[in-house]
Parts: sequence; structure tokens; C-alpha cells
Amino acid sequence: MDKPTTYVHTFAEGDRTMAALLGGKGAGLAEMTRLGLPVPPGFTVTTEACTAYLATGQEPDGLGVEVARALAGLERATGRTLGDAEDPLLVSVRSGARFSMPGMMDTVLDIGLNDVSVTALAKASGRERFAWDSYRRLVQMFGHTVMGVDGGLFEAAMTGRELDAAELVALVEEFKDIIRKETGEEFPQDPGEQLVRAIRAVFDSWNGERARVYRHREHIADDLGTAVNVQAMVYGNLGPDSGTGVAFTRDPATGERGLYGDYLPDAQGEDVVAGVRDAVPLAELKTHVPRAHTELAGHLETLEDHYRDLCDVEFTVERGRLWILQTRIGKRTAEAAFRIAHDLREERTISADEALARVDGTELTRLMFPRFATRPGAAPLAHGLPASPGAAVGVAVFDSAEAVRRAAAGERTVLVRRETVPDDLPGMIAAEAVLTSRGGKTSHAAVVARGMGKVCVCGAESVTVDPDARLLTTADGTVVREGDTLSVDGTAGTVHLGALPLTASDVTRALETGTATGPLTEAVLGALAHADSVRRLEVRANADTPEDAARARALGAQGIGLCRTEHMFLGERRSLVEAMILARDDTARERALAALLPLQRADFTGILKAMDGLPVTIRLLDPPLHEFLPDRTALAVRLATAKHPDVRDRELLDAVERLHEQNPMLGLRGVRLGLAVPGLMAMQVRAVAEAVARRLRDGGRPRAEIMVPLVGTAEELRLACAETARVLAEVSAETGLPMDLPIGTMIELPRAALIAGQLAETADFFSFGTNDLTQTAWGLSRDDAEASFFPLYLEKGVLTASPFETIDEEGVGRLVELAVTFGRLANARLETGVCGEHGGDPASIRFFHRAGLTYVSCSPFRVPVARLEAGRATL
Ligand code: ADP
Ligand code: MG
Ligand code: MG
Repeated sequence: MDKPTTYVHTFAEGDRTMAALLGGKGAGLAEMTRLGLPVPPGFTVTTEACTAYLATGQEPDGLGVEVARALAGLERATGRTLGDAEDPLLVSVRSGARFSMPGMMDTVLDIGLNDVSVTALAKASGRERFAWDSYRRLVQMFGHTVMGVDGGLFEAAMTGRELDAAELVALVEEFKDIIRKETGEEFPQDPGEQLVRAIRAVFDSWNGERARVYRHREHIADDLGTAVNVQAMVYGNLGPDSGTGVAFTRDPATGERGLYGDYLPDAQGEDVVAGVRDAVPLAELKTHVPRAHTELAGHLETLEDHYRDLCDVEFTVERGRLWILQTRIGKRTAEAAFRIAHDLREERTISADEALARVDGTELTRLMFPRFATRPGAAPLAHGLPASPGAAVGVAVFDSAEAVRRAAAGERTVLVRRETVPDDLPGMIAAEAVLTSRGGKTSHAAVVARGMGKVCVCGAESVTVDPDARLLTTADGTVVREGDTLSVDGTAGTVHLGALPLTASDVTRALETGTATGPLTEAVLGALAHADSVRRLEVRANADTPEDAARARALGAQGIGLCRTEHMFLGERRSLVEAMILARDDTARERALAALLPLQRADFTGILKAMDGLPVTIRLLDPPLHEFLPDRTALAVRLATAKHPDVRDRELLDAVERLHEQNPMLGLRGVRLGLAVPGLMAMQVRAVAEAVARRLRDGGRPRAEIMVPLVGTAEELRLACAETARVLAEVSAETGLPMDLPIGTMIELPRAALIAGQLAETADFFSFGTNDLTQTAWGLSRDDAEASFFPLYLEKGVLTASPFETIDEEGVGRLVELAVTFGRLANARLETGVCGEHGGDPASIRFFHRAGLTYVSCSPFRVPVARLEAGRATL
């Protein structure tokens, strides 16, 4: 039996908890109606109706009847009839998905106008021009959105014309002709048909190109569908006491307290978003229609109190009367996110936990990116509005396709447009920054850029953009052509020619040295302090030098989870390593190793000093030896072309050939190397132990741990541990100091995860090397796969994210869980951590928290991000 379905809800029936069914916009309209805010009446067609329609290509049974019934109700409530010949009701048909997708889907205004009702509207409003302009908008929007006519044809017919009433009458006829010519169909005069077709068009727009691109980028599921809102029209273009605007309860760019927004007198809603005309600051509404401003301020306060977060609204003033057309939790920049969360917590509107939940690691990363170093004297090329903060350098491009093309070739670009339209979305994604010459802070470019965290300067009016000639001209006549480098400062709202030098951001400086202060850094430090107080996961850093260790510590690292020793073998020391590899007998090898020992000891001493009192996990040499030798081809060529071939080169080439492997990443490396090259492991362990001894003698508290890489069998680990223990005992006997260093293993082969119980009998700790574990579990090489077929796999949906960026929970994650469980069964005191790239990835950190690991380790720069996310993982 089919369950009875209700596909339509009036605004008075719904509320904000119904966003999945009514879409964000519909739920917001319903909630505002319940709160008693002045919302033009209307009804919502549910997302279920949309998904049913998209599945079958037909409106589901009963939908037509329900819409007709709801329309009749709306007509009763307004006392008007849709498209009536005397006093017509007009409606808007508005898309509205579960998650806000600004401007990505379609909306049609002024449904109900036709050749007859347009005259009635003129009479009822007393404004002929207004009525014909509304009709013109309807025919244009309907023709484009519903009937699929190229929007450019309408634009072209309109350009350069003085649109008075008579001209608009003519234009409507021309538009109808265009429709007839392009589609072979008439513009429908029947208001009911207009409504039904507009609803269908909104359903269809869910699968439109730009909506799909946006969803993939924002990780919104493709099967949710959109709701459709049908709402009585109100008019902002009825003279000086009318207008339309967008308002925020706080500044969405900086988070600063206080009303913020744009207002456009005598205009309709879509004019603001399109940036067609330049809006004035919201405060000016006070002088235009004072009462509406006061009312608006009151309603915004009601909304913020109710939603307990930044809200934004679309509003329209019709002849002095205020109407609210939309509300939602406002999108905001990273800076605003931290400040608003902090302020709301201080205002006691939300708890500390809630404040922490409202910011995330991605936003924090954005705030830690460098900014432009201030260079007094360097005059900017142009000033605009600081629409979305940050610093970006790239070459100027003048259309979306060029931005995409160049980005694919690895080039950084700045997308320069007069104003952006939804079709520019791919280019905005590809570019580092967006620059427009027109539009306010709530224009399309600004809203979309903020949502994506992309640098944006908009409304740089002194700049003339010529997309056809692919250049821009500034007020003083400077010409910037495609390919010229620009620096865009989205924080200051300026654009500079050439690449400006970058410097650490205030937030980074505040975190590292505590030297920067201000409301933003205070908010960030507040969020981190709370995260630290609730998190269970410890955060360590991957660091190979004393400098990195010190930096990581300043950023809050609680130790080093991975200290790689291979870089210590490079540079000037390469010849010593070569000598070790080329050694023909034990004496020669021992001599080479003995030369390396003091150097390694000094390295370790410095790092242990920087991390005094905190654990430092040192990994024994991991990469295959050939990485330390010259390139095989280059060497062969050198030998072949030399007049007097060098003996050493000859020996080197022999060694390179001897060590050559088809698949070095699966070859003689990690613990295998330690077992195969006599004395290598002993030298490294001795260097660590002697560094510990030195620090102890200097009164330090060294906490070195020794980690064995690429273990696959219990016997490998036993042999490595026995050798390590032997050397530690030796050094202990020599120095008279205790040398009970923890010895652990990396888990980076599936086999190691599967025999974790056996390994834990020997190991004091496990460290998951999730980079290699992902490569070996998937059987694919990161370097090759990411460059070759990953883009295809992501596009086809085989993968939703790169498993090298975000841990593959069901595969690699399962191995981690398994190893933790069996490891702990065998050894209750086993410590577990992660030292792969995933240790700094927000989604992965949540997983590691759930898996019960002791710590994550990541690059120093990501330590604050990991601290924040480890805190958020507990909420
Ligand atoms: P989007 O989701 O792209 O913002 P909307 O459905 O909000 O699309 O509508 C586009 C514009 O039309 C907005 O500025 C909105 O305020 C305006 N608008 C929508 N419905 C009405 C209405 N009933 N009366 C007046 N203006 C409206
Ligand atoms: Mg809107
Ligand atoms: Mg590894």
C-alpha cells in the first residue's frame, strides 16, 4: 500500500527542523512565519516531490492537486487571484535545497503576468513602467530558465535602450518573438501553466551543470533534490520609499558586531545579488525609510537570538512596508567564524563547546596562511572592497575557461571580471583570487568567494575590464594584460602589479611567539585553549631539525612523533654515506660509519634539547640506499664522455647498478636495510644513546624513543630490538647512565597490522605510517596515482576523496583499528600514534580519536589545526 504523501506545506505549517524536506529556504521562511516576522505568504513543494520527479521524469501523483489547493489557499489569504484581470496575484517560484547553494539553481519572479494582467498591475500600482518592467523580467526569466533560450539574446536586445514604459511594451513583444523563434513555442499566457512549468524547471535545475559542480566541491550529495517555494510577490521597485537589500546580524567578513549589509533603493531583489547596480551601505536605509530600518534591526535581533548564530536575510521594502524574504545561518569567512564564535560565547549565547564546534581546522589553516608584507610606498594598482580576506598572487586571466586551463597546467591565476555570474564558478574554483570591477560585498563574486575561502576584491570601480581584449585598464592608464602577475589583498581590498612578498599572518605570529594581539588572535587562542582542555588525543609534530622542533613546540606540539634521519645523510655528508655504501671490507665501512656518528649525535642532541622533557620518536634509516647515490644515467654518461674516467665514478656506477631495484619502494629499505648493512643500525642507535647521555649530563630531560620502519614480521622486529638493546646496554655501561629507551615499530604494511599482536610482544609503541600503509594496502603508488588516474576516479565517483589526504576508514582505517585492538590485547601499555600526512587532516583526526590512538603527529604548521580538531572530535 502506498503511504499517503504530502508534497506541499504552507509556510505556516513548517519549521526549521524540517530543512531536509522543505529545503533551507523553505524551513527558514516557515520558521520566520512562526516567529511572527513579516514574510509574504506562500507554500513549499518538498524535496521528496523533487526526487520523485527526477526519478521518473514526471510529477508524482497528487502533486498537481496539492499545488492547486495550496494556491487556492494563498489566493484566499491575499484576496487576489493568480494572474487575475483586475487585481492579479503574482508569485515567485524559488529553488531551495537542504544546503544553501547561493545562485546555483533557478528562481522565476512575477509568475502570473500576461498580456491582460500586466494592464491590471499597472492600474493597481498606478505605475505603468513598473508593470511592464515586471512583465519584461518574467518573459526574460521564464524564456531563459524554463524554456531554455540563451539569456544572451535577451541581454543583447536590451543593451543601449532607454527603457521607458512605451519601450518596455515593445521589448516584451521582442522577447516573445525571440522565444517563438528559438523554441517554436509561444510564451504561455496561462498563469497556471506558468506556475507548473516554473516548478518543473526548478526541479530540473537541481541537475544543472553549475549546481552539480558546486555540490561536488562542497561535498553535497547528488540525490537530495531541491524544494520549491511559491511565494506572493512584493515589490521593491515602486519608488523612493521602496527598495531591497541583504542584511547580516554581524559583519560576515570580519565578524565584527553590529548590523551589516547592502541596500538598493527602488530595486528588485535579484539586482543586489547580480551586482547590476551598486548598492549603498545598509545604514542609508535609515534616511530612506527610517521605520523599515528600525523594524529590520529588531527582526535581525530576534533571528540571531533564535538561531543563536550569525543570520543573514534578504528583505524588500514595498512603499514603506518591510518584508523579509529569506533567512539562513550566514556564510562567513574564517576570520568571522572565529570571532563570532568567540563573541557569542562571551555574550553567553552559546557554550564553550558550541563555540568550538563552530570553527574548524580548515578555517584555522586559512588564517595561518601568510599575508602580504606591508610595503609603504608601493601604491596599489586599484582599490576595491575587501570581500574575502587573504593574500594571493597569480597571473591575470579574463575568463573562467582560461583560469581552468592554466590551473590544470599548474599555473596560479587571478580571475578578473566586471562581475561574476554563476557560470564563472569553475574559474573561481580554479583561480587563487577573484577581482571584479563592479558589485558590492554581497555580489555573487563576494558571496561565492567567501564561501570557498577564496581571496576576493570586488567593486574595484577605477578599473575598466575588457574581457574581449583580455586586459584591464586602471584610472591612470596602466594596462594589465592576460598573463601579467597580480597580487590581490582581500583583507585590505587592494590589487598590486607584480608579486608582493609574503610574511607570517597575525594568527601564526600570535601562536608562535605571542607577539600579535587583537580580537581575532584572541578568538583563535580562546578556541585552542578550549580544544586543549577537552581533547584526549595528544598532538606531536614531524620534525627533523632543532629549528623545526622548536617551532613545533611553540605551536603547541607535545613531542615529536616522527624524526626522520635520512635528511641528515644528505648535503656535505653524502660523501660519507657513499663511502659507507662503497666500503669493500668491514674496516672501511666502520671508518665511514664512525665518521657519521658524531654528526648524527649532534643532530639528535639539538632536537632533544629543543624538545626537552617531551618524547622524541626517532626513526632509523628508511629509504633505499640508491637514493643517496648519483643518478645512474648521469653517471654513465659522465664516465662514457670523460677523457680520464674517474675510478671513484666507476665504483659508484657499479654500486648504483648493484643496488638498482625495479621497485625500490618495495625493496631493500626500512628494517631490511638495518638488518642487511652491518653496523648501520648500531651506529644510529649509538648516536641517539650518546645524545641522550650528553643531555642527561647537561641536566636535561631527554625522552628519545627508537622506531623501526617497514617491519613485516615479528622476527625482523625481534632482531632489530635485540641489536638496539645491545647497543643501549653498551652505552649505558660506558656512561654509567640508564638507557631504557622505548623501542617501537611503524605499522605501514598490511601484514604488520594483521600480526600486530605478535609485534606488540616486542614493541613498546606502534606508529602508523599511514602514507605507506595506504600505498601498500591499496597497491598503488601515491606519486604516480595522484598525477595519473586520480582525477578521473574522483570525477567518476570511484573515489570521493584522495585516500592519501583523508584516511580511507573502511580499508586502511580498519587495519589501524585491528592493529590497535590486537596490539593492546598483547601489550596493555602499548602506545599508539599516527605519523602520516593524515595526522594533520581534520576528517582523519576524528577517526583517529574514535580509534582510540594516543597521539597524532603532523607537520609543525598543522599542529594548531590538529589541536583544534582533536578537541572538536570529542564534541
Ligand atoms: P537565490 O537562492 O539565488 O537567492 P531567491 O529564491 O532567493 O534565489 O530569489 C532571487 C531574488 O528574488 C532574491 O533577491 C529574492 O529576494 C527575490 N525574490 C524572491 N521571491 C520574491 C518575492 N516573493 N517577492 C520579491 N522578491 C522576491
Ligand atoms: Mg536568495
Ligand atoms: Mg614509511
